[in-house]
Amino acid sequence: MIPDKEALWWSSLEGDWLECHLCPRNCRIEEGASGYCRVRQNRSGSLFALAYGRPVAVHADPIEKKPLYHFYPGSYTYSLGTFGCNLGCMFCQNWSLSHVAPNWGNTLKVPPQDVVQAALRSGCSSLAFTYNEPTVWGEYVLDISRPARKAGLKTVMVTNGYTSPEAREEIYAEVDAANVDLKAFSEDFYRRQADARLQPVLDTLVWLRNKTGVWLEVTCLVIPGLNDDPEMIRLLSGWVHDHLGPDTPLHFSAFHPNYRLLDRPPTAPAILRKAVDTARNSGLRFVYEGNVEGEGAHTCCPRCQKLLVRRSWHCVTENSLRGNRCPCGESIPGRYS
Ligand code: SF4
Repeated sequence: MIPDKEALWWSSLEGDWLECHLCPRNCRIEEGASGYCRVRQNRSGSLFALAYGRPVAVHADPIEKKPLYHFYPGSYTYSLGTFGCNLGCMFCQNWSLSHVAPNWGNTLKVPPQDVVQAALRSGCSSLAFTYNEPTVWGEYVLDISRPARKAGLKTVMVTNGYTSPEAREEIYAEVDAANVDLKAFSEDFYRRQADARLQPVLDTLVWLRNKTGVWLEVTCLVIPGLNDDPEMIRLLSGWVHDHLGPDTPLHFSAFHPNYRLLDRPPTAPAILRKAVDTARNSGLRFVYEGNVEGEGAHTCCPRCQKLLVRRSWHCVTENSLRGNRCPCGESIPGRYS
């Protein structure tokens, strides 16, 4: 049995109140209560990380599922998630982990070293923090990542990017790759649909690009009538191009009605195709369609147009890369064996 974990990234306030500094919400939490994410609790004036050591979803997934298309394509990643989230997305695609009251009664406590050993036994080459928002269990991410890397595993964050500057310095110190959701290029969308702000997410993206060696890919879930306006897609793509660079892979994923957003249709293939065309016209060299079967998941050489990595859903069925190069000699950005 591992003891309950006192959290990092908080400070005391008057009385038994405290303030959590893990994400931009900076929740002020009274004795006995939890923060917005439900998994950080004030116990007698100290903050405890309730999700620490309690994975509730564990699978060996293709790395393409995260999605990461330029990070060891075709490899498998030992993926784990727990409860809680610091955003309030109406369209959450994983709400049964993110937006329910955590049911700790059915969970096992798993020390970080045991997660690493299980990942090694699985034969996966990396370990992914995913399914729900890993920022809210940042202490567990930190304590798993260190021994994982020592054991030769790569580490991956699949995140909404809503992390404070103070915490991200530590959390990402031992992380190799990240896929960050950029849900829309609109403060209004973030406020109405995610109960959050856009700017901290943009700040995290720029920080990851400029201040770390983390391999970065970006995903936008395209929701009909909410964030598929061509002008918004153009602004989003232009921002990624200008601030993260033309080699940053951008994934446009199809929405399926879920959680509290059940009155919208699934994203039509033509909408995704249009978003991809808009992003390519903005100068981005690697733009993908996700959550749909089709040509939009393949990686092609931007110089000679050769199809380099063919994908069927999350499986790589053909890979013509030679290290990080197309046979024509063009360098393809990413991390490869
Ligand atoms: S991590 Fe949770 S408790 Fe901490 S500030 Fe964010 S939402 Fe609040």
